[in-house]
Amino acid sequence: MRTLDRPIAPGGMIGIVGGGQLGRMLAMAAARLGLNACIYNDAPDAPAFQVTPHHVVAAYDDKAALEAFAARCDAVTFEFENLPAPAIARLAERAPVRPNPEALAITQDRLREKSFVASLGLEVAPFAEVNDEAGARSAFQTIGGPGIIKTRRFGYDGKGQQKVTSAGEAAQAMAAFKGAPCIYEGFVDFAFEASVVAARGGDGAFAAYDPPENIHENHILRRSIVPGRLTPAQGREAKKIAQKIAEALDYVGVLAVELFVPPAGTLIVNEIAPRVHNSGHWTIEACAVSQFEQHIRAVAGWPLGDGARHADAVMENIIGAEAHAWESLARGGAVHLYGKAESRPGRKMGHLTRLSPLTRA
Ligand code: AMP
Repeated sequence: MRTLDRPIAPGGMIGIVGGGQLGRMLAMAAARLGLNACIYNDAPDAPAFQVTPHHVVAAYDDKAALEAFAARCDAVTFEFENLPAPAIARLAERAPVRPNPEALAITQDRLREKSFVASLGLEVAPFAEVNDEAGARSAFQTIGGPGIIKTRRFGYDGKGQQKVTSAGEAAQAMAAFKGAPCIYEGFVDFAFEASVVAARGGDGAFAAYDPPENIHENHILRRSIVPGRLTPAQGREAKKIAQKIAEALDYVGVLAVELFVPPAGTLIVNEIAPRVHNSGHWTIEACAVSQFEQHIRAVAGWPLGDGARHADAVMENIIGAEAHAWESLARGGAVHLYGKAESRPGRKMGHLTRLSPLTRA
């Protein structure tokens, strides 16, 4: 695997796998630092293509295209973490890959991820590996219900998961996932959800943003509020959790840890996103250095920036047809539209951030 021997100077090329809104905002942050971004996407209409002239359109398992892409780049990173492992290995032969392939492999797989987090002594929901209908029944009986059958790979925004309240339902859910390897997870009775977005540099430096409270609707993030209902002590605990995970993964770049905040007691880790995260979009306006710039800095071997929050913020996603009201949205705060031509239901079209004076540093 290639490593980065020295920081990438302005004018260098950062490869970004995935051309959605996260890739778009990463490319814009790279441009601000005088760095170029080359986007790799499997379809030609990627939102990120609109903000940089350097693109590759090819399948995520196209060996020749991956090699040619990596050869153009001084380092490669991801906005989309579900690349097949052989593809990541191929990139890593030609360019430094940040975060490292092992960190991606762990976080791509819910079973490996949960086992890894638990091995660090952090709290997770009770879980068990499930590979067939009989396994689903017995996991339900051992852990108890209600619970959720989740596919181990490729889940996002509630896809690949099914809430179940009986052993029979658990078996049915397993059948519906057509033999895909799954986990069964006991349902957590949380007070609310939160996340912590943090960065680790190549030199081991660590910087975490203040953790927002997150509100979901229909399994999609609706709003992130900072400061939310986390107490200052819970905020510190969340940052320590992120640091422990980042260090154990020898992580370089930005990662997000999604958390369940119980009515009392220790924070529970739901999942790790090995990339910039929707719940960190508010950092663009409310912090001197946003999560996007922080990630590019880490990937390029630059010093991490100051992630301190200078305002309170509420970030609201603009979903589906809501984007048609762009004129009135523009009156409401800092509006971001991702350049997606078609507004399908549930599709993240943009976001809106409103700032207010800092109430709690
Ligand atoms: P995930 O794809 O694992 O992030 O799950 C998506 C959403 O489903 C979470 O943000 C929660 O709202 C809910 N969820 C997932 N796992 C659990 C669980 N074990 N207990 C309660 N709610 C959950």
